[in-house]
Amino acid sequence: MRLILLGPPGAGKGTQAQRLVQKHGLVQLSTGDMLRAAVAAQTPIGLQAKELMASGQLVPDEVVVGIIADRIEQPDAKNGFILDGFPRTVPQAEALDGLLKKKKLNLDAVIELRVNESALLHRVEKRVVEMLARGENVREDDKPEVLSKRLHAYREQTEPLVHYYSEKRKLLTIDGMMTIEEVTAEIERVLAAVIAADKSADSAKAARRKSAAKTGKAAGTAKKATKKAAGQSAKKTTKKAKKGTRTASKSAKKGSAGSARRGAAVKVRTKARRAGKVAKKTAKKAVKAVKRLTKRG
Ligand code: AMP
Repeated sequence: MRLILLGPPGAGKGTQAQRLVQKHGLVQLSTGDMLRAAVAAQTPIGLQAKELMASGQLVPDEVVVGIIADRIEQPDAKNGFILDGFPRTVPQAEALDGLLKKKKLNLDAVIELRVNESALLHRVEKRVVEMLARGENVREDDKPEVLSKRLHAYREQTEPLVHYYSEKRKLLTIDGMMTIEEVTAEIERVLAAVIAADKSADSAKAARRKSAAKTGKAAGTAKKATKKAAGQSAKKTTKKAKKGTRTASKSAKKGSAGSARRGAAVKVRTKARRAGKVAKKTAKKAVKAVKRLTKRG
């Protein structure tokens, strides 16, 4: 299963993604986590992203698309993944479409967690307090002034994806204001419907493939039968013609050579014509059989 979790910062994407990982054995691909790791490791990407992230701006599309393109190639992503924080712009979504198409993979659903902004600010403030209480480092970009910039970026650059995926009939919107448990239950409920729809689409596809194979096989058998019938008639005709020639030469020996040859030639022509008609009839029957089988298949 391949999913996208869509929602503003603080909507609960990370929490719900972790639950999906446990329940469905998918990997969570968070571009935010990957970028933070790159910043910590001071890689060229990290150095490029550091300032942008600290000021609540988005990292350039080509950077995150490159990261995701590499990541979905990894063996652990084979069984499916949850994209958390990616795509964040329409060009990123288009790039993802291209990547999946190239790999002949399907996107199962985009789960949008819808929340209201004032609630978000409250949530993130609470998260900051909890982290401080645990003695953890608070994310630089969770500070109120940066957070409002991130929310602005979401509204301007990411929210158009709601329309993008709704047009593609992939969007499932969930009320992110419910409790964590309730949101999880609702995600599971909508995913169950998606899985059931995928299964029935798969079995319909398999049935179509099976029937196409059957039709092809039947057509092949009928073709062979036609060929065989035509071959047999041709053989018979040749045999009869040979017999006719033999009779002709016998008659020639017995009586007037000229009239015997003429008589034999007429006989050969008649027999050959009859044999030809039989061959034609057999071929016609075979063609009819093919048509019947194709209709049925
Ligand atoms: P997140 O942890 O998802 O809130 O991401 C933290 C920061 O990483 C964002 O504010 C951006 O600066 C950057 N970032 C993460 N994902 C993306 C993305 N898909 N496109 C651009 N920037 C991103």
